[in-house]
Amino acid sequence: MRLLLLAPPGAGKGTQGDRLAARYGVRHIAAGDLLRAEAQAGGPLGAEIAACQARGDLVPDHVVLDVMTPAVVEAAAHGGYILDGFPRNLPQALAAAELAARLGVTLQAAVYLHAPDDVLTRRLLGRAGQGGRTDDTADVIRHRLQLFAETTGPLVPYYAERGILVEVNADQSPDAVTADIEAGLSKLSPAGDA
Ligand code: AMP
Repeated sequence: MRLLLLAPPGAGKGTQGDRLAARYGVRHIAAGDLLRAEAQAGGPLGAEIAACQARGDLVPDHVVLDVMTPAVVEAAAHGGYILDGFPRNLPQALAAAELAARLGVTLQAAVYLHAPDDVLTRRLLGRAGQGGRTDDTADVIRHRLQLFAETTGPLVPYYAERGILVEVNADQSPDAVTADIEAGLSKLSPAGDA
């Protein structure tokens, strides 16, 4: 299975990514986690990543691609991947498609998890400070939600046009979200690979 999770912060992509990875026996590759690990490794690049993350801004595309590419290549050779938080803009989506083509694979599904901003904000404030995150503060959350709407949102029609979009209401229990994802995936046409 090769799938990506397209979701605003707080929609549950970490939880659903873990579940889907276990269900399909593939790697869960979370861009935010890989970038946080890189930030903790220090150096000038680490400091730049940490600053972007603390502000809730996107890390530059070339940095994201440097971090994600080896993980995607490795996972593609071992049954596939659940991409969580990547791609996050159109240039990254085009780079991801190019990488898949180079590896001789296709993306099979893009799962869009959506929920109202007030629900997402409440969830994010509820987990503030967990996992060494610096970005779950009210101001930064507002910025991240706005960035999602402006920059990542356009990927929803992009993948819909390619016939691989599954839309799921994330304002439900984790089990109900997982069930809806599974139901949506089962309805995708096998010819819809992008
Ligand atoms: P996440 O853990 O997915 O909420 O991501 C946390 C932060 O990591 C984001 O606010 C960005 O600063 C950075 N980040 C994660 N994924 C990407 C990406 N695909 N492109 C650029 N920045 C990213």
